[in-house]
Formats: sequence, structure tokens, C-alpha cells
Amino acid sequence: MADYHTKMLIIGSGPAGYTAAIYAARGNLSPLLVTGMQPGGQLTITTDVENYPGFADVIQGPWLMEQMRAQAEHVGTKILFDTIFDIDISQRPFACLGESGDRYIAETIVISTGAQAKWLGLSSEEKFRGYGISGCATCDAFFFKNQDVVVIGGGNTAVEDALFLTQHASQITLVHRRDSLRAEKILQDRLLNNPKVRVIWNHTVEEILGEENPKKVTGIRIKDVDNGTTQVLETQGVFVAIGHKPATEIFQNKLELDEHGYIKCRPNSTWTSIPGIFAAGDVQDSIYRQAVTAAGQGCMAALDAQRFLTEQ
Ligand code: FAD
Ligand code: NAP
Repeated sequence: MADYHTKMLIIGSGPAGYTAAIYAARGNLSPLLVTGMQPGGQLTITTDVENYPGFADVIQGPWLMEQMRAQAEHVGTKILFDTIFDIDISQRPFACLGESGDRYIAETIVISTGAQAKWLGLSSEEKFRGYGISGCATCDAFFFKNQDVVVIGGGNTAVEDALFLTQHASQITLVHRRDSLRAEKILQDRLLNNPKVRVIWNHTVEEILGEENPKKVTGIRIKDVDNGTTQVLETQGVFVAIGHKPATEIFQNKLELDEHGYIKCRPNSTWTSIPGIFAAGDVQDSIYRQAVTAAGQGCMAALDAQRFLTEQ
């Protein structure tokens, strides 16, 4: 068990964390980055990435994250495979405890622990994830050109996903568990007036149906919540859009969070409610949730922290 002392501790190894590391290392802050249980973050669970700027050809998510890791290391970041489970931010320097038993004493912290899409919790959903089940329409819509797809959910994300999918798929069926949408009215109007979209109200998903060879989704079985009758919808793609959960459990009652658990930052900055602690990426962003925006915020967090240290 060791004590590490650093000017900057970065928690999380997604695009936000690695970008913060690149900028901090080049600013001579000798950052320490703790990877967490998913080294490379959410992009390591996808395949093709076609919207990260700088690559004319399709690249693979895990490859992109490997490149970011290598770049962060080459400029001087120390990367440690550990997960932070407790944090004392009552005074500076801050102290973080890793599951390894190691302690990280840091003058500044960049939190980039990301957010995970919520899932329905069906075993068939798990089985077909990546084979027709997606949690990210912006990322995967392109693969469903001229196909029939289903979106599950009734919030802004589900409605925005369904609208985005109209640019690619031939028909979009939104399945929602209630008789009204939670999404903003303007989005609802756009959705309900789009001829490519139909909504099935008051239904929950009972099962994802599919084939083994090759592995692919062929439909879903949905259940009417009022009378219990079931029906099968044929579809090649299912977009689960029932909300995201930011990874902020360890910061509860320590940092200001919004009502959905995202870390609150001052407008146009990465400053959290505690001076010296900065947040970047999906952990503080419930709206854009893209690799490139997370990377941009990682850059902002490193620059904010550097200015903070200079002013001290
Ligand atoms: P994340 O990538 O979520 O990384 C969070 C990091 O924090 C992880 O390394 C994790 O191990 C670490 N962590 C969490 N808790 C702790 C802890 N307690 N201690 C230490 N570390 C911790 N975006 C695009 O722009 N293009 C795409 O094509 C695209 N495709 C996607 C496909 C899928 C299937 C998914 C799920 C998302 C996709 N996204 C895509 C979205 C993109 O992946 C995210 O917006 C981006 O990864 C967010 O980056 P982040 O750095 O904020 O967090
Ligand atoms: P959300 O607002 O929490 O909505 C989740 C939706 O999924 C709800 O309609 C909910 O149903 C449904 N749902 C939840 N669990 C379910 C389950 N197990 N089975 C079936 N349906 C389920 O999540 P979100 O849409 O991702 O939005 C999160 C936050 O980000 C919100 O504050 C939102 O405004 C914001 N956001 C904003 C924008 C924007 O401004 N353009 C875009 C995206 C997101 P019920 O309605 O019955 O609860």
C-alpha cells in the first residue's frame, strides 16, 4: 500500500480523463490518472466510431482509446489501474482511497468518471447488446439505414433518438410505458408530426427476440400495461433510451449534484462546488454525451486546474 502525492489526480480514463491528462502533463503538472474498472471508458464497448474528428476512415472505439492512453503516457502521465471508492475533500490537499488500498493525496482533482446508459435489465437484452441493441442512437443510427427500428423510453433522449433515427431508418416505433411523454413539448410535437414515427403507448418490453447464427435481433415482445396482452413487433434494431446514470455515488453529499446525480459545474467552466475540484465529460453533461465533447471538457478541466494552482 502506497501514498501517492500529486498536483493533479484524474479519476477516470475515458476521453475526458485522457485529454485532461495530456494537457496537464504538457503543463508540467505530472498528473496521476486512475483508470477505474473500465480502462478507456464507454468507447471500449463499441466498435465503429465515425464521428470523432481527424479520422477520414472508420476507426474502432477501443483503438481510439488505446491511442489516447498512449498519448497521455508519452507526454508524462502516470497511469494507475485502481478504482477510487472514497474521497475526503473536506480540506486541501484532498485524499482519495483506492480499492487497492493505495492513497492519493492531490492538490487538485479532475473527476471524469462518466455516465452509463441505463438498461432494461433483461437477459435477452444483454445477449444482443451490440447485435441490434444499442444505447446510443447518435453512434449507431447509421447502421440501420432503411430498416425498421424501435426506441424505448419517453424522455428527451428517447424522442431525440427517434427523431435522429428518422434520418436513417425507414420506420421508427417508439414504445413508452405510459400514455404521455416526459420529453419537452417542442420535441413531442416534432415526434408526433413525423410521418416516419409511430408511438405505442402503455407498453413495456418483455423480451428481445433474435437469432444465433448470425447473432441478430429480429423483434421484441411487448406487453400492454393495462390488460396484460402481448404482441411481437418485428424489428432489426432496438434503441434503449431510458436515461443515463452518472457515476457519482462517491461524491454524494460531498459535491453539489443536480437532481439526476450529475456534478454541477459553474457555467462555461469545469469548476465544481469545491475549489480545486473540476469535473469533465459525461459525469457533468446530461445533454451532449459524446466523446468529442468529453475530450473538450477534459481540456477545459486541465486548464482550469492549472490556473487555479497558479493563483494559489
Ligand atoms: P467514460 O467514457 O464513461 O469514462 C469514464 C471512466 O471513469 C472509465 O474509465 C471508468 O473506469 C472511470 N471510473 C468510473 N468510476 C470510477 C472510480 N470510482 N474510480 C476510478 N475511475 C472510475 N460517442 C461518440 O462521440 N461517438 C460514438 O461513436 C460513440 N459511440 C458510443 C457507443 C456506445 C455503445 C456508448 C455506450 C457510448 C458511445 N459514445 C459515443 C458516447 C461516448 O462513449 C461518451 O460520451 C464518452 O465516452 C464519455 O467520456 P467520459 O470520459 O466522460 O466518460
Ligand atoms: P429521463 O428524462 O429520465 O427519461 C427516461 C425515460 O425512460 C422516461 O420516459 C421513463 O419513463 C423511461 N423509463 C425509465 N426507466 C424505464 C424502464 N425500466 N422501462 C421503460 N421505460 C423506462 O432520461 P433522458 O431522456 O435520458 O434525459 C435525462 C436528462 O437529460 C433530462 O433532464 C433531460 O431533460 C436531459 N436531456 C436533455 C436534452 C435536451 O435538452 N435536448 C436531451 C437529452 C436529455 P417515465 O416517463 O414513465 O418515467
